[in-house]
Amino acid sequence: MFTKSKALFEEAGKVIPGGVNSPVRAFKSVGGTPVFMQHAKGAYMYDVDGNRYIDYINSWGPMILGHAYEPVVKAIQEYAAYSTSFGAPTQLEVEVAELIVGMVPNIDMVRMVNSGTEACMSALRLARGFTGRNKVIKFEGNYHGHADSFLVSAGSGVATLGIQAVPGVTATVAADTLSVAYNNLPAVEQLIAENPDEIAAIIVEPVAGNMGCILPQPGFLEGLRSLCDQHGIIFIMDEVMTGFRLAKGGAQELFNIKADIVTFGKIIGGGMPVGAFAGRREIMEHIAPAGKIYQAGTLSGNPIAMIAGYTLLKTLNEHPSIYTQLEEKTNQLVTGLRAALGAAGVVHQINSIGSMMSVHFAEYPIVDFTAASGANNELFRRFFHAMLERGVYLPPSAFESWFISHALGQEDIDFTIDAAKASMQHIL
Ligand SMILES: *Cc1c(COP(=O)(O)O)cnc(C)c1O
Repeated sequence: MFTKSKALFEEAGKVIPGGVNSPVRAFKSVGGTPVFMQHAKGAYMYDVDGNRYIDYINSWGPMILGHAYEPVVKAIQEYAAYSTSFGAPTQLEVEVAELIVGMVPNIDMVRMVNSGTEACMSALRLARGFTGRNKVIKFEGNYHGHADSFLVSAGSGVATLGIQAVPGVTATVAADTLSVAYNNLPAVEQLIAENPDEIAAIIVEPVAGNMGCILPQPGFLEGLRSLCDQHGIIFIMDEVMTGFRLAKGGAQELFNIKADIVTFGKIIGGGMPVGAFAGRREIMEHIAPAGKIYQAGTLSGNPIAMIAGYTLLKTLNEHPSIYTQLEEKTNQLVTGLRAALGAAGVVHQINSIGSMMSVHFAEYPIVDFTAASGANNELFRRFFHAMLERGVYLPPSAFESWFISHALGQEDIDFTIDAAKASMQHIL
């Protein structure tokens, strides 16, 4: 079934570290050989051996309307002919910024970058420059990209690979990052008390998606907001995953909570490498060249990336019913999977919100990284492979969220639930 993928992975290992360009793709935590993709359309990905999969990673988010969404593909083709990069400003960048400022609450200005990593890294620099403070509070199992400051108790691939301390991140840098359990407000309060006037920012995934999908407990985000207000701390909501996914205005809109700086990635580029950070004018105007906090990018605001993102965002903006439909699809899948796993007698937890969800094999609620780590991830490994063999592509780690796309049809949901039933019969 995977002959060509296996051959390619062997070749890849000789010229690419670990055979992949981003760690989670390597299937390390689930074992086996990663599947090499050939093309994708709508809800389906097709690998080099000709196998078809219903896709539940959707490029980790950007394919919210399905793969090769035609308006995006056409726009890219059209704009590619005008030159793939200028290194000078374009009208399109203004239009993208205006669209984003119109969709997302509480932001006046936005700066485009090339990845979520860059967005979070730049947001932290801005918070530090703005407050004149050094330290940042983050949450265990939250992932904010691979900048040095964030590789402390990080989620996603760092958690998947079980790396405790990343070599190359200096102790001095790591010492400025304080990490506490997600959903633990008293611990945050204590850290602030122990570091008076030293905390520049609190950064949080408003819905955690890098240790599976974990919801903020009622009052958690509100509590963070008010602690930031009390202590002059910049509240950074990392909406790289949740932005334009949970609602057109992201988690800020869904939970009605204001961030001081928001970061974006994934959906914002429509599948092209794009990130952004945004905030109110009085904060954002400290960014160079308006202010002294330097941030730059040779390919930032790249026209092909901008038109892809613009086309996707505009569709989401003009069709708010997409979000209710996405949620309905997710709920159907969750209900069906609960029934299938329950009938098989498998102890499980399914967390879900909007079009994000994840399955943990545990008997207790999954509210933080410790809980996610204690789940039966060996069973997840077997479940993942059983599903893959049946044509369902789940995230290859229990520490990742599943993403539902609008291209997913009723028959795909039914297929997935049947595959889960068959998988469990096969495993147990
Ligand atoms: C994916 C992700 C990032 C990093 O984005 P990249 O584009 O991979 O650099 C940052 N924060 C969150 C919440 C993410 O999910």
